[in-house]
Amino acid sequence: MPDDSDPANTLPVYVIGAGPGGLAVAAALREQGVRAVVLEKSDAVGASWRRHYERLRLHTTRRMSALPGLRIPRSSGRWVPRAQLVRYLEKYAEHHGLDIVTRVEVTRVERSPDGTGWLLRATGGRELTGRAVVVATGYNHTPRLPSWPGLASYGGELLHAGEYRNAGPYAGKDVLVVGAGNTGAEIAVDLVEGGAARVRLAVRTVPHIVRRSTLGWPAQANAVLVRRLPVRLVDRAAGALARLSVPDLSAKGLPRPETGLYSRVREGAIPVQDVGLIKAVREGRVEPVAAVESFEADKVVLADGSRITPEVVIAATGYRRALEDLLGHLDVLDERGRPVTHGGRTPEQARGLYFTGFTNPISGNLREMAIDARKIAKALSRRSRQGLSRRSR
Ligand SMILES: Cc1cc2nc3c(=O)[nH]c(=O)nc-3n(C[C@H](O)[C@H](O)[C@H](O)COP(=O)(O)OP(=O)(O)OC[C@H]3O[C@@H](n4cnc5c(N)ncnc54)[C@H](O)[C@@H]3O)c2cc1C
Repeated sequence: MPDDSDPANTLPVYVIGAGPGGLAVAAALREQGVRAVVLEKSDAVGASWRRHYERLRLHTTRRMSALPGLRIPRSSGRWVPRAQLVRYLEKYAEHHGLDIVTRVEVTRVERSPDGTGWLLRATGGRELTGRAVVVATGYNHTPRLPSWPGLASYGGELLHAGEYRNAGPYAGKDVLVVGAGNTGAEIAVDLVEGGAARVRLAVRTVPHIVRRSTLGWPAQANAVLVRRLPVRLVDRAAGALARLSVPDLSAKGLPRPETGLYSRVREGAIPVQDVGLIKAVREGRVEPVAAVESFEADKVVLADGSRITPEVVIAATGYRRALEDLLGHLDVLDERGRPVTHGGRTPEQARGLYFTGFTNPISGNLREMAIDARKIAKALSRRSRQGLSRRSR
């Protein structure tokens, strides 16, 4: 355990963000005897999960989604509902006695003037100095809308999926959902079940669709098993499994993807877990259409040249990491704005800066963040000990 009589160790480690990633790191640090303070811009832990659409459940299993040191209660079921995950995160913070300061947004991370630690600039003119910083501000930080031509003058109703709560406001309406990732697919099904008059799903790249579980065996368990196997081998195996377990929906406008499942994962596209899309497409209740190209007054122009006039457009077009303002000046982001390291590794040019939650692994983000939390805690506790032994020499 680090020695608190060492002045360097009396400074806390600051963790930015009280989502699952930040909470997991803070708990793992505490277990290693490292003082951690979590800074959260909203007024409570798990802010992202409080905002997600109501019907959302984890598509990773309860067991493989738990954070270090506390199981998700069995009563939450195998596929944990959103509200119960929020309750779990509240309980998690309480159980581990985490030091969390809410309503503090970190706006910039800099080296401390003496070069030994990190200076955080935060709302209210705060300046906080930490011995290390863990950035856990979330992969799904800021809604992303493509720069579609004509969007500015589009007169119809358009919202980002991040604003969607439930199907209530769309009952009886003609809705176009843009983007066939997990979120778009699930919102399309929710709309159908919630009484929308017509639901179309605009698809740019045909997704891989996998059953959430097959004969009781969860897709996530396959993902964990195959994670380190050669991409081509996994692509072939996944293709064979898909032909057995997922019907051919080509006639309904959703052909099988040409690129293999794992190749797509490597490009950043996680397969869609089926929570009703296959059935809805088969029954013609969700109609796949071509990708959105542009907007015209009250029309949406699709890639096949057709023009449609839905009453509402819901853009399930993803999110940005939005780390540039916070960290862009430190040369720790790649060309896609993602941190260059994660887990226990810290960038050579910014030692003491750690990241969690910015990978998008096929085996589940919560699982990965639990693993990264332990690695970060170990690395930081090792750094303290090394610092001590160097000073005592
Ligand atoms: C719809 C959806 C479903 C998902 N389902 C699953 C699933 O089933 N299984 C799975 O493993 N993963 C899932 N994920 C992926 C991932 O596990 C979650 O997004 C998870 O919440 C990520 O945790 P996080 O802590 O990295 O980020 P977040 O939960 O987004 O938390 C980040 C926190 O940081 C705060 N913050 C941001 N910027 C600042 C700042 N500058 N200063 C202070 N605070 C700040 C935010 O307010 C927020 O509370 C899902 C993601 C989405 C979007």
